[in-house]
Amino acid sequence: MKQKKTIVITGGASGIGLAITRLFADKGHQVIFLDFNSNSGNQVAEEFKAKGGDVTFIQTDVSDLNSVKTAFDQIPETIDVLVNNAGISHVGNLEDTSEEDLDRLFQVNVKGVYTCSIEAIPKLRTNGGGSIINMCSVAASMGLPDRFAYSMTKGAVLSMTLSIARDYVAEQIRCNCISPGRVHTPFVDGFLAKNYPGQEKEMFAKLAATQPIGRMGKPEEIAAMVYYLASDEASFITGSNFPIDGGFLGLKA
Ligand code: NAD
Repeated sequence: MKQKKTIVITGGASGIGLAITRLFADKGHQVIFLDFNSNSGNQVAEEFKAKGGDVTFIQTDVSDLNSVKTAFDQIPETIDVLVNNAGISHVGNLEDTSEEDLDRLFQVNVKGVYTCSIEAIPKLRTNGGGSIINMCSVAASMGLPDRFAYSMTKGAVLSMTLSIARDYVAEQIRCNCISPGRVHTPFVDGFLAKNYPGQEKEMFAKLAATQPIGRMGKPEEIAAMVYYLASDEASFITGSNFPIDGGFLGLKA
């Protein structure tokens, strides 16, 4: 792996994104993370800078092209890696999903990949190629129960991954996605607090038990795959989807 790569990551202030920020920063790479949440973003950046890490936070709403353009104006002309990780969830089947819910999920989970990728491509091109890694979900391949809008948007992330991979393969810009199963992050804690107040512990155990491996994943277990896909060792991999899910998809039948 190039000694010091420049990596741009969205949603790098929490959960899986934070683990990715940490892994790349600890290995001496330059990390620029875009996140909506300025409180945790600034806090995370300060924490890494205090340890000598080359970490920059730019407050950005990935669903807003102007906000993303402003962020990318502050990013070097050449980057090696883009990780489209920011995402939000919604609980409900088709009839429980309002037009507003649908639009909100689409704006962040789908348009957010478009806005950042379209801004990143020229900077990856200047680099002579690079790697785009999209955070998908097992929901894209199996339609999680009661997650109509979420499954739909992650299905689009999978399709966008294939489309980008195909259109930019000749320029050595690789594009892959990772489909995590349940991973213990604030995303999961927030979901439990909102939907099962007072029953969080019990529901956490139930969710963990749905994974064949018997537990939820750790953010670091997803970050490790991102690190590999960003590396030169993965130079022959593009247009692929990698489930990291404790056997959730593969061992179901
Ligand atoms: P998280 O909620 O812990 O972190 C998400 C981060 O994205 C937060 O820092 C948040 O501020 C940021 N974000 C949200 N909307 C944004 C916006 N409009 N602009 C910029 N930043 C924004 O979530 P997580 O569990 O770490 O999930 C990260 C990704 O992994 C998501 O795409 C999610 O769909 C996917 N995923 C998570 C799980 C899981 O079980 N945790 C499973 C499968 C897929």
